[in-house]
Amino acid sequence: MAKNYHILKITFLGTGTSQGIPIIGSDHPVCKSSNPKDKRLRVSVLIEWNDFNYVIDCGPDFRYQMLRSGCTKIDAIIFTHEHSDHVMGLDDIRPFYFKQGDISIFAHKRVLKSLKKRFDYIFATKNRYPGAPSVHVNRIKNKPFKLNDLEVVPIKGKHADLQVFGFRFLDFAYLTDMKTVSDKEIEKLKGVKILVVNALRTQPHHSHFNLEEALGFIEQVKPEKAYLTHISHLLGFHDEVEKTLPNHVFLAYDGLQLTL
Ligand SMILES: [Zn+2]
Repeated sequence: MAKNYHILKITFLGTGTSQGIPIIGSDHPVCKSSNPKDKRLRVSVLIEWNDFNYVIDCGPDFRYQMLRSGCTKIDAIIFTHEHSDHVMGLDDIRPFYFKQGDISIFAHKRVLKSLKKRFDYIFATKNRYPGAPSVHVNRIKNKPFKLNDLEVVPIKGKHADLQVFGFRFLDFAYLTDMKTVSDKEIEKLKGVKILVVNALRTQPHHSHFNLEEALGFIEQVKPEKAYLTHISHLLGFHDEVEKTLPNHVFLAYDGLQLTL
């Protein structure tokens, strides 16, 4: 089959904040909603490019997200940061590891240190537990790197005091868990056609953009279309919130697919 180096297919594997929606035991109307778009697993996206599959973040819902999306091969996992809702599914790379061998992971050195602490057995070099998966570690800095032949540009931001990475692939960019992004980093987003950015809720939050901040950020970047993710139940019902957004801004939802 002819390769097309300009086409990306994006699948939103999860669009919820750290507890997911519904929250266990919650009586909040959004948690009780029967609309499938109000049910959000922890944030992650699958990016398909030619025959390659890349996943951004690997949270506690990773196993179910792989089953639900039908993804049967992973060429790399790229981490934004080390919070639990973004990393705790790493053990579930086992079925991929058994079939493919070591799984490539890409992360900042601080994130790698945290992964080594949480999943010591995955990184162990001696007395390895039989059946433990193993990874091929790629340390990333704030400069472009390649996934196969696809260039990835990290976008550095702050999640309160923690540095996090968003990523640009061709004309698509994915940023989550951002609270502040410098003008210099925003420059790297110029010309993106599709921007995904986090919007937690209406009220301000110390480490995430609220809706107003996310819309302001979109206004600065000026993509053709923007999708909001890492959503809390406190943002409201999917269908109602979406009606209030500018024409080129949408709420992402689990299972949404985009091609560009
Ligand atoms: Zn998060």
